[in-house]
Amino acid sequence: MQTRLPADFLLTPQGQEADRILRNCVHCGFCNATCPTYQLLGDELDGPRGRIYLMKQMFETGAATERTRTHLDRCLTCRNCETTCPSGVAYGHLVDIGREWMEARVQRPPADRLRREGLRRALLAPGVFGTLLRLGRGLRGLLPQALKRRVPTAPAPGSRPSRQHARRMLLLEGCVQPEIDPGINAAAARVLDRLGITLESVPGAACCGALSQHLGAVEAAREAMRRNIDAWWPALEFPAESPDGGSVEAIVITASGCGSQVKDYGYLLRDDPAYAAKAARVSALARDLAEVLAGEDLAPLDPGPARRIAFHPPCSLQHGQRVRGVIEGMLTRLGHELLPVDEAHLCCGSAGTYSILQPDLAGQLRDRKLSHLQARGPELIATANIGCQTHLAAASGVPVVHWITLLDTP
Ligand code: SF4
Ligand code: SF4
Repeated sequence: MQTRLPADFLLTPQGQEADRILRNCVHCGFCNATCPTYQLLGDELDGPRGRIYLMKQMFETGAATERTRTHLDRCLTCRNCETTCPSGVAYGHLVDIGREWMEARVQRPPADRLRREGLRRALLAPGVFGTLLRLGRGLRGLLPQALKRRVPTAPAPGSRPSRQHARRMLLLEGCVQPEIDPGINAAAARVLDRLGITLESVPGAACCGALSQHLGAVEAAREAMRRNIDAWWPALEFPAESPDGGSVEAIVITASGCGSQVKDYGYLLRDDPAYAAKAARVSALARDLAEVLAGEDLAPLDPGPARRIAFHPPCSLQHGQRVRGVIEGMLTRLGHELLPVDEAHLCCGSAGTYSILQPDLAGQLRDRKLSHLQARGPELIATANIGCQTHLAAASGVPVVHWITLLDTP
């Protein structure tokens, strides 16, 4: 695609990157076929090709309208279009630049600004989300049925292992996941312990930054990334100061949305002279939990009773990280029955804060996803991202769990 981006924008790293990405797009439209919002709305401007065109126009003319913002806001950032694109267009990075550009130049109406910033702070300010969740759980019995299902119950996490192994990995605890389902990280630590690996939690490492990034609060996202790097760096730089002196093999992430973001730290901080090299190292060490276990001998694990499972691969896992079929293969090898699921490539509508900010579209996508997941009568639905898990569980007829809990049998 030919571009005529203004000279001042082309002098910036974002302008150069946007120009490079736009030039890769040949406008073929193949990506529309797998875009969830294009499938629901049938509008060219609610598909990747139309959004790319809108962003190009916006950068070139310097003008953006409410209409442009509406179409960008409706994008789930699921990156299904990247998987489909034969030209390798990095749509996810382009839409990040487009959103940052838009937020800096076109103010949202006050109510919208308040809603987005309030949501961001409620989810990220220490203690706020946990307090609200505990309040909701306390009042659960008084809530109407529809609202009650949106307040997830809190399964007991169980204890974390205290043994120290020669093999060490760091764990990203995350921000909302430990509040919603603290059992996920605890299960990951127990399973890795049985395989002879210590999973270490590092104080100070928390939110990966994805939530702020997708809400257009790019500087807040960068701060979160730098904070995590600072927290992990001593363990990466001075392995000899660890309890056993072993070096860290990986940074393990149990939520695929966060994993996708941490793997992108090197790219996102590439122009930061103080952090670029460290961020690249952190990204190189980042692994989804599935990638870690796929490389291990699982014989020491007791697979427990065989279950009929419908697996939902989150977009951040299959499109963001390009990790496909790994968890399904592992669960099958452990004796579980994995049921075929139609449209497995499509988003469930969770997408970070999307389900709160675009409830109508998110609800339609969830209904469609659940109809496929439940079509063959599974005992349970397994997934790999806390956002998908919570979003699906609020309307599912069967339990929705993180897949690692299925491997965590005593
Ligand atoms: S993003 Fe890729 S698939 Fe979509 S129109 Fe451009 S080149 Fe074609
Ligand atoms: S990221 Fe997802 S919703 Fe957005 S344009 Fe691509 S396929 Fe469509």
